[in-house]
Amino acid sequence: DPSLCAPLPVLGRDVTVPLVTGGEVTYAALDYAASAPALQRVWDDVAAYAPYYGSVHRGAGYLSQLSTDLFENSRAVVHGFLGCRDGDQVVFTRSTTDSLNLLAAALPAGCEVFVFETEHHASLLPWRNARVTYLDAPRTPGEAVRTLEHALAGRDPYGPALVCVTGASNVTGEVWPVRELAAAAHAHGARIVLDAAQLTPHHPLSVEELDVDWVAFSGHKLYAPFGSGVLAGRADWLREAEPYLAGGGASRTVARRADGGVEVEWHTTAARHEAGSPNVIGVYSIAAACKALTEAGFDRLVARERHLIAKVREGLAEVPEVRLLSLFGDDAPRVGVLSFVVDGWNSSHFAAALSAEYGIGVRDGLFCAHPLVRTLLGSDPQDVGECGAPEAGPGEKSLNAIRVSFGAGTPDEHVERFVRAVK
Ligand code: PMP
Repeated sequence: DPSLCAPLPVLGRDVTVPLVTGGEVTYAALDYAASAPALQRVWDDVAAYAPYYGSVHRGAGYLSQLSTDLFENSRAVVHGFLGCRDGDQVVFTRSTTDSLNLLAAALPAGCEVFVFETEHHASLLPWRNARVTYLDAPRTPGEAVRTLEHALAGRDPYGPALVCVTGASNVTGEVWPVRELAAAAHAHGARIVLDAAQLTPHHPLSVEELDVDWVAFSGHKLYAPFGSGVLAGRADWLREAEPYLAGGGASRTVARRADGGVEVEWHTTAARHEAGSPNVIGVYSIAAACKALTEAGFDRLVARERHLIAKVREGLAEVPEVRLLSLFGDDAPRVGVLSFVVDGWNSSHFAAALSAEYGIGVRDGLFCAHPLVRTLLGSDPQDVGECGAPEAGPGEKSLNAIRVSFGAGTPDEHVERFVRAVK
């Protein structure tokens, strides 16, 4: 379709890999859900800045001042990209996992947490010091909202509570009814954090419009290099919490007390949770990615991705042995992340063959969402097998799955090769 935008240039698009069948082929990176290749634009921006970087918040020199300005400007760029409200804080972290652990450490005393069993482990597991209610996997978006409402109706309406929910599943790619879940949470006096690790690379999002209290995401899935992430949202719980890390940068003043101890006054801004010298390049590259995606135009990127999703789904539908994993069914809105099993095939062998024979990189396993994948595969939910568990024997159920995922840098040829290979 000529109206579709071209894939955005990304690093590694000309890398060739050897095939076991002989010869070599350009690598088809179809594992964006794990880590997306960095946009060339982001890399160029970082390379242009690299000779000038200096310490942030810690130097009087020209380059330190420049770096501090760029660092704080990156915060403003991310604030705008996420459609945050005035007064929302943007805290730079290492990743989505780090962001959600930060929030878990900042929960007020006695906070209850509500989380669907379908979450990625990064949003399922950080709430170790709270009373957690795990909600069963819903089979429709409407059921998700009803399940949450039912669970919240039974709680103490005066105590603090947090709902944690994913924006788009890292297993099925299905988009969750975030606005409705946020409304349900707020109607019952709870707050909500959105795990947007898989949503931000594929969809524009607005914290204000969705009315979520916080959002978390990772740079390495948003076409920036590894090592940086974001927690953005309401300032109050973050301001009142103990600093996530104690150290320089988080403390405003430190003084010896008359009794010999140490008195610390902590910052009340995002700096409170950003102790230590920050990952300047990581933060700068997240902002560069936000700008590059905005400039490319999300509408066009979404349209292109829909076109790729349709190609993959139509192709896989022609292979009777393929079963796509889905909670919400065919009509659910989705991003470019699809998981499936192939009758008669070990998923790990299948993924290895895609790599060795076709130069296609996908992922196999349970995708750090063990309860969800087991529910989708119909295997024993109490099974404690590892990621990449051995495959079932003939006629038995698969114990793991194959995931294909793509995005703004994916040319049609990659998904066409993938469909051909599966066939
Ligand atoms: N949430 C979701 C939905 C994810 O897909 C991932 C990464 N697979 C994470 C959280 C964790 O992200 P990170 O590894 O960057 O912390």
